[in-house]
Amino acid sequence: MHLNKVSLEARHISLSYGSTEVLKDVNLHIEPGEFFALLGPSGSGKSTLLRLIAGFNQHQRGELLIDGKDITGTPPHLRNVGMVFQNYALWPHMTVWDNVAFGLVERKEPKESLKRKVGAALELVGLMQYAQRRPSQLSGGQQQRVALARTVVIEPKLLLLDEPLSNLDKNLRVQMREELKNLQRTLGLTTIFVTHDQEEAMTTADRMAVLDKGVLQQIGTATALFDYPANRFVAGFVGTANLVDGTVTQVNGETLTFQADGVGTLVMARSPDTPGLGKATLAFRPHTVSISVRDEHVDASRIWLEGKVESSEFLGESSRYRVRVGEAVIVANQSHYCGLSLFPPGAEVRLGIEHSQARLLAA
Ligand code: ADP
Repeated sequence: MHLNKVSLEARHISLSYGSTEVLKDVNLHIEPGEFFALLGPSGSGKSTLLRLIAGFNQHQRGELLIDGKDITGTPPHLRNVGMVFQNYALWPHMTVWDNVAFGLVERKEPKESLKRKVGAALELVGLMQYAQRRPSQLSGGQQQRVALARTVVIEPKLLLLDEPLSNLDKNLRVQMREELKNLQRTLGLTTIFVTHDQEEAMTTADRMAVLDKGVLQQIGTATALFDYPANRFVAGFVGTANLVDGTVTQVNGETLTFQADGVGTLVMARSPDTPGLGKATLAFRPHTVSISVRDEHVDASRIWLEGKVESSEFLGESSRYRVRVGEAVIVANQSHYCGLSLFPPGAEVRLGIEHSQARLLAA
């Protein structure tokens, strides 16, 4: 298959339905060949943005460019964009072969090359031996592969996937996300997929954009978003985070003082991106919190919090604690190894967070 790698750029895209703004000044640049995820909760505008790229929705403001060329006025069928829908939208009365061939028949592809292309697409997704079956005779994962084959057979410039794995059960989802990633790597096709599942986005995408209420919150790799979330929303949506609101009351050379609401005064190391005086949110991940008995040595290497265990869950590889610290409840995950006993509910404990693992986010 000969697939071009194209870039996609959204510049100041806005879209409203009546007085409801669904996308607000969205800017993003997707590189040629990139596997890119649009991640956000339900109703955040992900599908609207995807459909806009396909040409099914029209933005009122901004520009949409493929390889630098504005395609805003180009109708869907002239965009050469392939879209896989959540429910796959296969023709039930047609065989797998005919489903995959459909787009090429529409294009009046010569017989010989049609045969070659359909064959190649079915080989690609490993379904050649099912060519004569109907979709109802296939598993959910196989149906999805047919939908993918049907889409890539027309050699689109862009592959768009709307919640491609949401109809599959958990195990199959994990397997299919591997397959999807391999397929994308093989084709090298610029691919944009929509998901509300952060794990799915993190495990498959090269980069992702996080959306909330139609506003693009942050773009980056999974590790960049996880380690350096730009704001409270991203910190809580990409992975889990402890979030404590408060106020930066003092900033000195290397340190700052954070008045954590309901928790107390914390002295923290200052980093170049720390916000200045005023409202802020302290964010840190449960697995970076150490949990120990109160009489252990305390030094300046960590932020220390004193608390009481409210509950503990043994998960095998780790134990998850909910610890009350003043008015806040902090989640701490402790890795488990053979012989380590758990702190019981009511235990007085000390939590430690290394300065490098705590982030202050501007409010
Ligand atoms: P997501 O894909 O993130 O779940 P959508 O893009 O489907 O979100 O929807 C974003 C918002 O736009 C939602 O509040 C939804 O109700 C609204 N919306 C979507 N399509 C329409 C439409 N055709 N008319 C009016 N409102 C719509």
